[in-house]
Amino acid sequence: MSDRGSVSVVIPVYNEMANLPELLRRTVEACRGLGRPWELVLVDDGSRDGSTEWLAEAAREHAGEVKAVLLYRNAGQHNAILCGFASAQGDILVTLDADLQNPPEEIGKLVAKIDEGFDVVGSVRQDRQDALFRKVFSGVINLMVRRSTGVILHDYGCMLRAYRRRVVDAMLGCRERHTFIPVLANLFAKRVTEVPVAHAERAAGTSKYSVFKLVNLQFDLLTCMTAAPLRAVTYVGVCISALSVGFGALLLVLRLVYGPEWAAAGVFTLFAVMFFFIGAQFVALGLMGEYIGRIHADVRERPRYLIDRVVGETLRERVGRPESPAHANPRAAHHAGA
Ligand code: UDP
Ligand code: MG
Repeated sequence: MSDRGSVSVVIPVYNEMANLPELLRRTVEACRGLGRPWELVLVDDGSRDGSTEWLAEAAREHAGEVKAVLLYRNAGQHNAILCGFASAQGDILVTLDADLQNPPEEIGKLVAKIDEGFDVVGSVRQDRQDALFRKVFSGVINLMVRRSTGVILHDYGCMLRAYRRRVVDAMLGCRERHTFIPVLANLFAKRVTEVPVAHAERAAGTSKYSVFKLVNLQFDLLTCMTAAPLRAVTYVGVCISALSVGFGALLLVLRLVYGPEWAAAGVFTLFAVMFFFIGAQFVALGLMGEYIGRIHADVRERPRYLIDRVVGETLRERVGRPESPAHANPRAAHHAGA
């Protein structure tokens, strides 16, 4: 498959004033080198350092190439990107960070992979320029995501990524408030790959993620990916109850062998009974978790499926009935609900 679709580069910006001139210069240059229609969508995520005004001015100066979407308040990096996606028009959507840690010059490499027929192209930061604790933390998270999604990507934290329009439309069809885009994209992509990319130190300013915000982001990732922790509660409960039954049986045997004075006059037996009910409580909690997990899934309203093509004309099309229901078409679902 080799279409040379148009490219939208989406960049979330939160208090990045010192990086913006260089970011714009390098990104525009990289986009011009793509040799196809492109646009740059800069989403200001409620900055308070003058970035907002600067972006508005840049969009006026580069009319027809650069668009600034200015959020009223800080919505978070992933929500800002989704907002940019909703406003972008390209066939291929590329995201990167505004702090120049992701070199814009790598955009062409990602786009070329989409041209090869991939739906999502991730990237792996070579010689990552971040604090050691961030790298170790990421290593654990990446391993966890690989295990639970089965999609073999090595660097979920790197936001230098490219997506085909179809995948982005499906993501926009999801109604969840807290999400983690690279993991969400895996749900809707058929062919996923990754490329090595360069990584630089933050050009100016400091990370916009405090430890607290970083931990919250990992919870977004976890809950976006799976409801397994809720189910785990049930299994823990079943294990505790099963062990307590075994413990009770053992106590009975020992009592028969050593007589009634053994086992602290029934205190041990009380423990066995108590463990059984503690286990039962866990099971009850897990059961509630199952219902909550289902409510969570329903609230997110993720598209149930993506139609690739429908082959063959039938009665319905011939009589010119209106289009298929919104659920079959995530983009329609999104716009109808927006
Ligand atoms: N960002 C944002 N909203 C936020 C936090 C961050 O739009 O609430 C943007 C930020 O401006 C940058 C990108 O998200 O373009 C990544 O943020 P940062 O570089 O601070 O994260 P780190 O590299 O430390 O993970
Ligand atoms: Mg950064």
